[in-house]
Amino acid sequence: MPCPAVQIANHKSRIENASARRPFPDRPQRGKLERENVRRLNRKHGPMRIRTYPDGCLRVSCPPVREFGDEEMARAQGMLDLMYELKGVGLAGPQVGWHGQILTLDVEQSGEGDRIFLNPRILGVEGEAEQDEGCLSIPGVFAPLRRAEKVVVAAFNLRGERMEIEAEGLAARAWQHELDHLHGILFIDRLDPTTLMTIRREIKAFEEAAEREQ
Ligand SMILES: [Zn+2]
Repeated sequence: MPCPAVQIANHKSRIENASARRPFPDRPQRGKLERENVRRLNRKHGPMRIRTYPDGCLRVSCPPVREFGDEEMARAQGMLDLMYELKGVGLAGPQVGWHGQILTLDVEQSGEGDRIFLNPRILGVEGEAEQDEGCLSIPGVFAPLRRAEKVVVAAFNLRGERMEIEAEGLAARAWQHELDHLHGILFIDRLDPTTLMTIRREIKAFEEAAEREQ
């Protein structure tokens, strides 16, 4: 399926009109969006689905989110639902064809607190750790990857509040992984050549499947 170029163009024009100082000019409505509203908006946009490698949607460097209304809230809720359904710890906008700096994260699968973040930036990193990593957009493929052990991230929550989050271990890894998605980077891009060789066949299988679908 092609990237939603029209949506991106509309999005860009809204960004150009938006204030640079705030993450988005219109704060989201407080309270939970009703389920029916989510369903109605999802029908309007078609079912949300995970884009998988080598879908070009995963290679877009996303602009900041400047506007967040009912429609965006419904899509963000759809991302959260999809993340839990797939038992992922995080999901980034481009993975569902949404080219804005938005990600969902719930490493502990708590279902509580701020789990949708906008316009995140890494402020600092510390240490190194290697761990097997995978991605909902390259399902079933895992490989060891060295990343920073701790990160400090700045991001906005849905109330428009700037947060500074310190994360370590799996949470730090998840932040780095999802932030990469917002800039068109996949975890396989960061593997050293030797490790990449070990999953070469699996990656190739994704590419061949995509070619057959065309
Ligand atoms: Zn991923």
